[in-house]
Amino acid sequence: MILMTCYDLHSHSTASDGSLNPAALIARAIEQGVDVLALTDHDGTEGIAEAQLAAKNTALKLISGVEISVTWSGTTIHIVGLNIDIANPTLQQGLQAMRDYRIGRAEEIAKRLDKAGISGALDGAKKYASEIMLGRLHFAKFLVEHGYAKDISNVFKRYLVRNKPGYVPGQWASLSEAVSWITAAGGQAVIAHPARYKITATKLRRLIGEFKEVGGIGFEVVSGRQHPEEVKKLARLAEKFELLTSCGSDFHTPDNEWVELGNLSTLPQHCVPIWSCW
Ligand code: AMP
Ligand code: MN
Ligand code: MN
Ligand code: MN
Repeated sequence: MILMTCYDLHSHSTASDGSLNPAALIARAIEQGVDVLALTDHDGTEGIAEAQLAAKNTALKLISGVEISVTWSGTTIHIVGLNIDIANPTLQQGLQAMRDYRIGRAEEIAKRLDKAGISGALDGAKKYASEIMLGRLHFAKFLVEHGYAKDISNVFKRYLVRNKPGYVPGQWASLSEAVSWITAAGGQAVIAHPARYKITATKLRRLIGEFKEVGGIGFEVVSGRQHPEEVKKLARLAEKFELLTSCGSDFHTPDNEWVELGNLSTLPQHCVPIWSCW
């Protein structure tokens, strides 16, 4: 029997919008048989130190990561950075600006919800967030708690996406900024969950072209809860554009029965894994 190393290179903790603290996340990853885990919180690396401590003296290898929000051609895109030096000032200045922007955006979301008759959303969302990062998922939890929709997915559809009362168009980093912060910190930039963007195939190819031009090298071919046909399609794209491939669950919470740490299909055979350059 060949024992394959289990890689999960995309996950979240309470340092962004995940529901497990970094130590609990590490414990769960070990329980689930993950060998190599990347903690990739949104726009911040505050969870890494605690995760490192928890992974110390275990068999789990922790990869320092981040997931940066990008506005590209009018669409929000997520770029994962792997193996970053979290002490790098260029990276940290960039991430700090993103989190500062989040504070103003959260105030604006709350203002718009207030106009729609929902008061107290800012304090309500903050109850679900750490001091570090405030995101739409925290608002979603507040809205579900107060009965505005039956679950998180419905609350997003009704309140937090384009053309809905609590939507604020993001003004995130540019693609070249995000990739340059990651490479400045010695990391590898990866396009996260490429199948999730509501863009045409042509536009996706344009994104990949521009991403490569600014120094991006990776493509997340396998993501949590993804159709096998989708994986094949993304694998072909990665091959065509000569991108290294990554896999990550994008785990946020044990409450989501569909997404579990390490529970991922294997990368198709012709894919060159991102860890081949480590
Ligand atoms: P933000 O970066 O604050 O705009 O929030 C984006 C985050 O919201 C994503 O990383 C997900 O965690 C969460 N999210 C976005 N859309 C949905 C959805 N339809 N259902 C559940 N969570 C979502
Ligand atoms: Mn998230
Ligand atoms: Mn994402
Ligand atoms: Mn993510």
